[in-house]
Amino acid sequence: MTPGAGRYAPSPSSDLHLGNLRTAVVAWLAARADGLAFRLRVEDVDHRSRPAIAARQLADLAALGLDWDGPVVWQSARGAAYRAAIADLAGRGLTYECFCSRREILDAPRAPHAPVGAYPGTCRALSERAVAARRAERPGAIRLRADVAAWQVRDRLGGVTSQPVDDFVLRRSDGAVAYNLAVVVDDADQRVTQITRGDDLLASAGRQSYLAHLLGLGTFEYVHVPLVYNRAGDRLSKRDGAMAGAALFDAWGGAAGVLGGIGHSLGLNPSGAPTTLEVLLERFDWTLLRPQRWTV
Ligand code: GLU
Repeated sequence: MTPGAGRYAPSPSSDLHLGNLRTAVVAWLAARADGLAFRLRVEDVDHRSRPAIAARQLADLAALGLDWDGPVVWQSARGAAYRAAIADLAGRGLTYECFCSRREILDAPRAPHAPVGAYPGTCRALSERAVAARRAERPGAIRLRADVAAWQVRDRLGGVTSQPVDDFVLRRSDGAVAYNLAVVVDDADQRVTQITRGDDLLASAGRQSYLAHLLGLGTFEYVHVPLVYNRAGDRLSKRDGAMAGAALFDAWGGAAGVLGGIGHSLGLNPSGAPTTLEVLLERFDWTLLRPQRWTV
């Protein structure tokens, strides 16, 4: 029995800022402290993805001392695995085609206790004839036919919570695979057991765990890390000018300085002095780890 793996899965649409690097450091420390393998996956299915950005992301992670086991997995090369998973679900009657526009979804009446942003089920019961008629007008998306409204997830930091599930999209109407499907298929194929990422994705964890359950892929342990904010109270984002790459490393005095700051924010480096990943791993202790929202 292999002990499983942790992972970090950046989207190469912008360079890694301090919040991304902090999450990556937690992911590596958590996996290594638990004796797990560590996987790297580039989530480059989005049209904003750029190979040059992916290369810089991997270089920045390596500069901090992160290493990973096995080859880097690129989502752009994984289409066959995604199609197979969707075909499996479709063969079991667990999918349906949806022709709703974003506007129609927003305007549709929803059940009183439906989670915010949940798909209201408009296309769930279309007849075959109606589907054929709608297909002639515009290509459909493929949605999961979910028969639960929530699913429990276990987070190492936040405990067990119930997160919303709806008939979420598996394949978009433009043919692109949806993130929720890709991430589940990839984590299972990479034998990932511990999923560390930003806590903005906690609300997606119920959908993903439920999908893993339907596909017979087991359960994941989550580690959702609070995000990093700027002084104006906005979460760091490259679009809003958050520092990244060489400018970020320079501002913090190089890799040791970045790790000193990140370690301090995690409760693993009280002095905040420059440090190394090895030192942070020696000090790593789940009971000490206090990743709060961090303002820089
Ligand atoms: N690729 C996503 C991001 O960079 C993370 C997805 C995940 O970790 O599940 O925000």
